[in-house]
Amino acid sequence: MSLVIDGGAPVRTERLPGAYPGASVYGAEELEAVRQVLACKSPFRFYGDNVVGMATQFEAALCQRMDRRFSLATSSGTAALIVALVACGIGPGDQVIIPANTFYATAGAVICAGAVPIYCDIDDSMNLDPQKLEALIGPAVRAVVTVPILGNACDMDPIVEICRRRGVLLIEDNAQSWGARYKGVLCGTFGEAATYSLQLNKMITAGEGGALITNSPQVIERACRFHDQGQFRAKAKSAHTKDLPDIPIIGQNYRMSEVTAAIAVQQLNKLDSIIERLQAIKQQIKSEIMPLLTKKGVTFRRILDPAGDSSNTIMLYLPTAPLAKRFKNALAAENIFCSHLYEGEPVYQKPSLFHQNTAHKSGFPFNQFSGNEKVSYHLGLCPVAEDILSRNVMIPLAPVFTEKDCGDIIEGVKKVAEAVL
Ligand SMILES: *Cc1c(COP(=O)(O)O)cnc(C)c1O
Repeated sequence: MSLVIDGGAPVRTERLPGAYPGASVYGAEELEAVRQVLACKSPFRFYGDNVVGMATQFEAALCQRMDRRFSLATSSGTAALIVALVACGIGPGDQVIIPANTFYATAGAVICAGAVPIYCDIDDSMNLDPQKLEALIGPAVRAVVTVPILGNACDMDPIVEICRRRGVLLIEDNAQSWGARYKGVLCGTFGEAATYSLQLNKMITAGEGGALITNSPQVIERACRFHDQGQFRAKAKSAHTKDLPDIPIIGQNYRMSEVTAAIAVQQLNKLDSIIERLQAIKQQIKSEIMPLLTKKGVTFRRILDPAGDSSNTIMLYLPTAPLAKRFKNALAAENIFCSHLYEGEPVYQKPSLFHQNTAHKSGFPFNQFSGNEKVSYHLGLCPVAEDILSRNVMIPLAPVFTEKDCGDIIEGVKKVAEAVL
């Protein structure tokens, strides 16, 4: 059978359902919750004629699901990370270590908080390589932000140990990894705070939205005030700690709307069933394609805790970058959606970050370090990330994939592997 890119017929004629795990299972529950907020004419969480309290409900449910004392609903995952950094006391003068493989937002949040990102290389798990971490901890480094990419935990034991020993804060940017686990322990429970996103691509979604979780009364108190124009509302009247004086601070607006929260509550309810279904789908497809791909020199992303993999993606490493490109184009032409994660590049290669083009005329925050301390980025900075990302092909999965959808993915991958590799 010839490939579509060589003039043949496709494995399937229709596109696969979009791999948006949370949105794909929207149903009567989300509709009813949103209807309730609209019927009460109370879309704002803190006051109105008949506030339902969806945001408060979401926060309570999140604390329970994530086994944390405190949580805060925010307007986005980026907002949650900015709030977490600020609430942890990270700001101007500080440097923050983040992995080379992440979305813009991890770096952007650090920069927005007034700190400078330092990039750490990854290993074949596609996450931060603990062996590369300690050498990067210079005198200005105050925090490490881990990013479990696409539902898979980072190697938390050594990372936690290094952070403790060196007195560096650990913050988890778990935007992509709702419900993921490391050695059976929930991601989000290892650091000072963890953040989540409800954007469309994430495991659960309200289109936009985010959240922060923590066990620290100081962190949640500062987070509540900062995310709400520095105000002392019900959520932040030194309700969490008497350690912080009632001195107003200047804040921002990173609040979540009641409409977003209504959807978020229902999506959180569905998280476990989404993961369960995705795990079954991933296992089935992976076991079918593995023998042939392995024979052809393709490797699979290393998964530290297969039982804790939220399984939203099948991630392949092709032998070379040109083969990865050809494999991806051929498979996509068969109507099996696939792509290169982050266009095959570490985040620091994005032009805005690479050239440190901040929104400030002065070049802040990068202008804080000069001479020997100047932070600059160059090609080759994180060679493993540059290599692995250049060879990656990802097949995103959705819990609504049918037996036929899964069969078509298996058939498409085999067809393309036989022809291209
Ligand atoms: C999506 C994402 C974010 C940002 O979330 P938004 O809700 O889109 O602001 C942050 N970090 C990572 C790793 C992400 O994937």
